Amino acid sequence: MVIKIGKAEDNDFVVREHPHVSRHHARLIREDDDCWLLEDLGSTNGTFVNGVQIVKKRVALKDVITLGDNYVLDVSEVLKYNNDYSEEFAALKKVYDNYIQAKIKIQSSNQFKTRLFQSLPFAIPGVVGVVIGFLGKGSPELFGLSLFITVCAPTVGIYLGAKQSAKTPQLLQDIANQFKIDYVCPKCGTFLGEIPWESLRNRKQCPVSSCKAKWVSE
Ligand SMILES: [Zn+2]
Repeated sequence: MVIKIGKAEDNDFVVREHPHVSRHHARLIREDDDCWLLEDLGSTNGTFVNGVQIVKKRVALKDVITLGDNYVLDVSEVLKYNNDYSEEFAALKKVYDNYIQAKIKIQSSNQFKTRLFQSLPFAIPGVVGVVIGFLGKGSPELFGLSLFITVCAPTVGIYLGAKQSAKTPQLLQDIANQFKIDYVCPKCGTFLGEIPWESLRNRKQCPVSSCKAKWVSE
């Protein structure tokens, strides 16, 4: 997590109209929840922590940070301007990959089962016919049974196959619903669509105009 501070509009925290603040003055890099690394970015008037000029220094919320001679930086205010969601965004790669894998798995396993259910019953009458042939001249009972299976088996097969393929939309619907909850902008929560994570990474930030979350930190 990085917060850039300075006069230029492309900073996260923009300091407007202060003569001692440079365009890209300093940045805060989060190390853990309470500890930040403050770095001067070659500013004209320098960065100070508790009155001492620094190039790079670990700071806590209680430290007094001054840009140039007299611009006191309100750190708790600056932290509100954090827009760096690169860590959270990186975690979405797994969400996308898992979703695609689960989807392919459901589709291919279903195709196999559907084919199995539909083809097996067609094979049974053939087997029964061969058995009847072996039994010789064929009794009317066996012939009747064979006819019954020949008529019924494909019907059952088509029914089972149709039932199997009807299961897929439900399963796919379930994982798609979960995906809609998980694959969202970490800041504003907008669903990102079924867009590959790599394509989103190329956009670098959230397209929602009020959000501006950075997905990739430079
Ligand atoms: Zn967003």
